[in-house]
Amino acid sequence: MTMDLTDHAEKHGIKFFLFNFTDLTGTQRAKLVPAGTASRIQKNGAGFAPFASWLDYTPAHPDMLVTPDTNSLIQLPWKPDVAWVAGDCWMDGELLAQSPRNILKKLQGESFEHGMLMKSGVEPEFHIISPDGLDISDARDTQMKPCYDQSAIMRRIDVISEISLAMTQLGWNPYQNDHEDANGQFEINWDFNDALTTADQLAFFKFMVKSIAENHGLRATFMPKPFSHLTGNGCHVHISMWSPDGETNLFSDPAGELGLSESGYHFIGGLLQHSQSMAAITNATVNSYKRINAAPTLSGATWSPSSITYGGNNRTHMIRIPDEGRIEHRLPDNSANPYLLMASILAAGLDGIKKKTQPGKRLDINMYSESHLAGEVKKLPLNLLDAIRTFDDNTVLKQALGNELSQAYINLKNAEWDRYSQSISDWERETTLDC
Ligand code: ADP
Ligand code: MG
Ligand code: MG
Ligand code: MG
Ligand code: MG
Repeated sequence: MTMDLTDHAEKHGIKFFLFNFTDLTGTQRAKLVPAGTASRIQKNGAGFAPFASWLDYTPAHPDMLVTPDTNSLIQLPWKPDVAWVAGDCWMDGELLAQSPRNILKKLQGESFEHGMLMKSGVEPEFHIISPDGLDISDARDTQMKPCYDQSAIMRRIDVISEISLAMTQLGWNPYQNDHEDANGQFEINWDFNDALTTADQLAFFKFMVKSIAENHGLRATFMPKPFSHLTGNGCHVHISMWSPDGETNLFSDPAGELGLSESGYHFIGGLLQHSQSMAAITNATVNSYKRINAAPTLSGATWSPSSITYGGNNRTHMIRIPDEGRIEHRLPDNSANPYLLMASILAAGLDGIKKKTQPGKRLDINMYSESHLAGEVKKLPLNLLDAIRTFDDNTVLKQALGNELSQAYINLKNAEWDRYSQSISDWERETTLDC
């Protein structure tokens, strides 16, 4: 039975609901609906002109209607009279094929029918910067190796603790907060969940971190590489496959190499095979490619991959097996649409499982300094255009995500690349003015 939002609002002191959807680029959109009318709008759907967001429609298309999925409801801890609820998107009485969240739900349903439930946990890194966006906010955060800097995290305790306590209140079970490898960079870790819940949490987390930082007169950015000399912001994804009841970890096998089952290795095989194309989704902006193909940073390492390899508990490879029964994908960043991120990982992994794709031998080398020992390995795309073109050639992924969504995504990303190509950077002027 679905929850009546007006009733729910009365019980919990909610005055407004954000009827939310996420467009193809990952931008959060919403209508702010008063509690008194929420019950009615909940049934009819909130209307949006899809062309006004980053969905591939024209101004002539009919309204898109968003009906809240009340399982996703979150009362804003920093503003409890408002609640956020992600919705199902509809047009002309049908579920919208271009909605990333609809597609993840569909894929999750299909994997369920194959007896599998994907669970995932994410590590969305972010920088706390000055409100004008020009620099980090803490002038004393200058260590060359600032990772785990105790004094620097304590100088931001007001912001970090408010976020962490909010997450505890939401039942996410945050278990650690730290200063990361770049000056001004932080990470908050919380428990993994089924992939749809984690995608909703990731979408909400970015909104929450930015909102709370703003309330403290600061600003948070999840940009993949905001400062060229510092380590960029990744969004590692940890993955395991479970029985549909969520009780048995199908990736866990004490007899398997490093405690990972055969299906776990096939999943890695699928990820390795598709990650060049997936980069269009996992690393979705022009700026993403400045994080993954970067020279070592001031701290000594970028902590991000540039080749398509896997290893054990070794952070220099794209896929890491940190522990028995799970794998970590270290390529994604926060420009990824949270729903397409999970959907593409699930699609690639399932393809690997279905085809029993072998990942080859694990590499136990330091990929940053010993890549010459790796043999023939595939490289990641060098820029967004390469990634979009490779994605466009990948019929397996395009079919899994739906041809309509895939084409819409390609159209929008090509247009983004065109706009980028028309802009002239400081570097170009510095190196070319006197040519
Ligand atoms: P690291 O920095 O070593 O990569 P973190 O502790 O920062 O690790 O993040 C680990 C993430 O993995 C967390 O979100 C955690 O909940 C998640 N996780 C742990 N076990 C599993 C699992 N079996 N399946 C999916 N995610 C998991
Ligand atoms: Mg109007
Ligand atoms: Mg971490
Ligand atoms: Mg990290
Ligand atoms: Mg990690």
